[in-house]
Amino acid sequence: MSRVITYEDIPTLDHDYDIPEEPERVDTPSKSQEYQLKRRIRAYVEAFVEHRGLWAELKAVGEPDEDGLPLGYTIETGRRWTRSGGKCTPYENNQTGKVTYCNLTFVWRFYAGMSWEKFTGIIRHELAHAVEYFRTGEGGHGAPFKDVAEELDAVTHIDNETWMGVFDHRYTVECKNCNLESPRNKASKPVKRPEQRMCPDCKTDTLVVHHNPSGKSWETYDKYQQVRSEVEKSEIKW
Ligand SMILES: [Zn+2]
Ligand SMILES: [Zn+2]
Repeated sequence: MSRVITYEDIPTLDHDYDIPEEPERVDTPSKSQEYQLKRRIRAYVEAFVEHRGLWAELKAVGEPDEDGLPLGYTIETGRRWTRSGGKCTPYENNQTGKVTYCNLTFVWRFYAGMSWEKFTGIIRHELAHAVEYFRTGEGGHGAPFKDVAEELDAVTHIDNETWMGVFDHRYTVECKNCNLESPRNKASKPVKRPEQRMCPDCKTDTLVVHHNPSGKSWETYDKYQQVRSEVEKSEIKW
C-alpha cells in the first residue's frame, strides 16, 4: 500500500512556499477556484520534489522558467475524463529528441470527490510519469513505471471506496458520440444491454457503460456478463 504524504511530512524547505488553501469542493469550480487548485498542486509538487532530493535532477533535464521545474499544470473541469484522475503529456526538445518538459493535467471532479491526502497520491502518480519520461523517454504503466511510482509513493490503484467518492453512482452510461453521461445505480436494461439503446440527446446508438468501482466498461450484453463475472471474482464489489 502506498503511503499518504501530507505537507507535515515535508518539513524543511529552502523556499518559502505560499501554499493556497484547498478550494471548496464544488461540482463546477470558478476560474479562481481552478487557479487556486493549480497553485496548490504546484506548491505540493515543488515541496515534494525538494523533500525527495529530486530538484537538481529534474531541473537539469529541462528548460524551466526562472527557478521552477520543467513542469506545467492544467486543471480539467469538464464532466468527461471519467476514467482517469490525471494525465502527463511529455514534450520533446526538437534538437535532442529528449523529453524536456511535461504538462500534468488533473481532473477537478477527482479533487472534489476525495480528501487532499488521497488526491496527492494522484499528483505523485502523474509526477512519476514525468520522472520516468525525463529519465527514459518512456511512458505507460509497465514495470519501469512501477519502480518510479514506488520511489515516489504514488498511487497506482484507486480503491472502490474512493471511486464511489468521485462517482456517487455505480454505473455511468456514456454516449461515445456526444459524451452525454447518465448516472445509474441499478443494473437496468440500458446498463446491461447498451447496444439496444439510443442516446436520448444525439440519437446515435454508440453507448458505453462504465462500472465505476472497477473502471471497467462494456458496449454489449455479452461483454457486460464477462465484466461482471471478472469483477465478482476480484476483491472489488459489484
Ligand atoms: Zn498513469
Ligand atoms: Zn449522444
